Amino acid sequence: GSTIGIIGGGQLGRMLAMAAARLGYRTVILEPQADCPAAQVANEQIVAAYDDPDALERLAELSDVITYEFENVPVDAAETLNETTPVFPPPEALKVSQDRVTEKRFLNKAGIPTAQWRIVENEGDLEAALLAFEGKGILKTRRFGYDGKGQVKFSGAKGEDAKAGFAAIGSVPSILEGLVDFTREISVIAARDAAGNIRIYDIAENVHRDGILATSTVPASVSSTIAGLAADSAHKLLAALNYVGVLGMEFFVLANGTLLANEFAPRVHNSGHWTEAACAVSQFEQHIRAVAGLPLGDTRRHSDCVMENLIGDDVAKLPAILAESGAVVHLYGKADARPGRKMGHVTRITKRL
Ligand code: ATP
Ligand code: MG
Ligand code: MG
Repeated sequence: GSTIGIIGGGQLGRMLAMAAARLGYRTVILEPQADCPAAQVANEQIVAAYDDPDALERLAELSDVITYEFENVPVDAAETLNETTPVFPPPEALKVSQDRVTEKRFLNKAGIPTAQWRIVENEGDLEAALLAFEGKGILKTRRFGYDGKGQVKFSGAKGEDAKAGFAAIGSVPSILEGLVDFTREISVIAARDAAGNIRIYDIAENVHRDGILATSTVPASVSSTIAGLAADSAHKLLAALNYVGVLGMEFFVLANGTLLANEFAPRVHNSGHWTEAACAVSQFEQHIRAVAGLPLGDTRRHSDCVMENLIGDDVAKLPAILAESGAVVHLYGKADARPGRKMGHVTRITKRL
């Protein structure tokens, strides 16, 4: 096939479209917002809602294979498309990852440990769950949370109110996770092709600020045992999902050497942006290779590096960043630098190997 359909037109769609172009593919994006980051790069845009039946039919007609850049693509839409045009990663991966309860269940069933968790449908459930977790936990909406939105932390302090906490997330179906006392957070970017071959990038160590990823550092300062556990978990998950494409998986590392999975995203991942600066084949090219049926590429790292997200008015630092040597800058073409908005990222090469 020679045209790749991409659902979603944000920065991840933009970078996928760039990688596709480099491999000689055309791209069509489906995105309701006309002036989206991917529009500047894709060959064609269908400006319509993600579940618009006519738009989906047109996307299927124009595309040889369809992928997506965010996990909230309507599952029905992905399944309908998949009847006529292959959709990768498989819609099942969307379905599982869209709901934190189905996600945790799936991970646990695949033999991947997570924080303990309880379903919360109402205030009573939350009170009972907090009691079971000694007052400590993070309440999260089951669906649509990102960048730490839709979360309330209970630290076990006196006076914390289940009623107010549940109201604060909008009294919607949610999950209480045990509060993990982690020493660091790491992530794995892994790829699987249709034949079942798996390639994994080196593990990144991630720091979040205000719930948003701030930096990813490679190599992560973790033992080879922890790195091995993370890679094993990714293998298990990719196989269990019969996955095709790139997937990002987040973990907590505990002081006692335990590794707990936090969540996964069935797509390229912010903590994998460093691969464009420090690997021969970036996560974006890897994803395009996997969904287009090309052989997977080399995931070896040729440099140590630190990726920093440029969020909101961080872009004011650009003149200085552009003057640095060894800084690989990537901007998303967004005009309006609102607070908390991801405007671009810079990967600083810290050591050539
Ligand atoms: P993303 O933008 O990565 O999709 P998200 O909104 O889905 O974020 P999570 O990744 O679940 O949110 O949580 C955001 C951050 O909050 C985590 O990276 C971690 O720092 C902290 N956190 C989440 N869950 C827990 C937990 N159970 N215990 C301790 N800290 C947690
Ligand atoms: Mg998430
Ligand atoms: Mg996360």
